[in-house]
Amino acid sequence: MLQVYTGDGKGKTTAAFGQALRATGHGWKVLIVQFMKGDPSYGEVQAAKGVKNLEVVQTGLPTFVEKGNPSPEDLAEAGRGLEAAREAVLSGRYQMVVLDEINVAVDYGLVKLDDVLALVNGCPDDLELVFTGRYARQEVIDRAGLVSEVREIKHPMQQGLVNRVGIDH
Ligand code: ATP
Ligand code: MG
Repeated sequence: MLQVYTGDGKGKTTAAFGQALRATGHGWKVLIVQFMKGDPSYGEVQAAKGVKNLEVVQTGLPTFVEKGNPSPEDLAEAGRGLEAAREAVLSGRYQMVVLDEINVAVDYGLVKLDDVLALVNGCPDDLELVFTGRYARQEVIDRAGLVSEVREIKHPMQQGLVNRVGIDH
């Protein structure tokens, strides 16, 4: 089953980590591959170190990716992430693989939509795939069995509150 968490409101990545946590509680082995997120100081990345059967692979540079004009390093990092996801999916070692911000990586031209769709199509039936990120492509939505759109109704950013430690990162 492919699950997709998309939309412009807050709660996509945290939903995916919550889903991963729930799965590990039943003894599932879970891999989370993050795209465009090289910073290890995220609370969820630190916390995951203490969770049995939950692994996180981060990819991406600390610098901002220019939409439609990614640097070779950005492309290499995203390619590394997709390769890690592909290996994990085919290895049979995991029951759940999360690709955090993969929708954004596609939107920014860091990974090819066709490569992502190939990964979905080649996924064993007994593996749960989870995609997150704004701007999920219709082709991805078409292949998913579960799609949730998080819609922004309010966000403290509108009141000038940015990046609260423990809440946003
Ligand atoms: P979270 O990681 O908290 O679940 P998310 O994955 O849904 O958020 P992203 O689109 O990946 O959100 O954006 C990541 C960062 O942007 C987070 O710090 C999040 O709090 C913030 N954010 C999410 N939605 C909004 C919004 N509508 N306005 C402003 N900032 C937002
Ligand atoms: Mg996110």
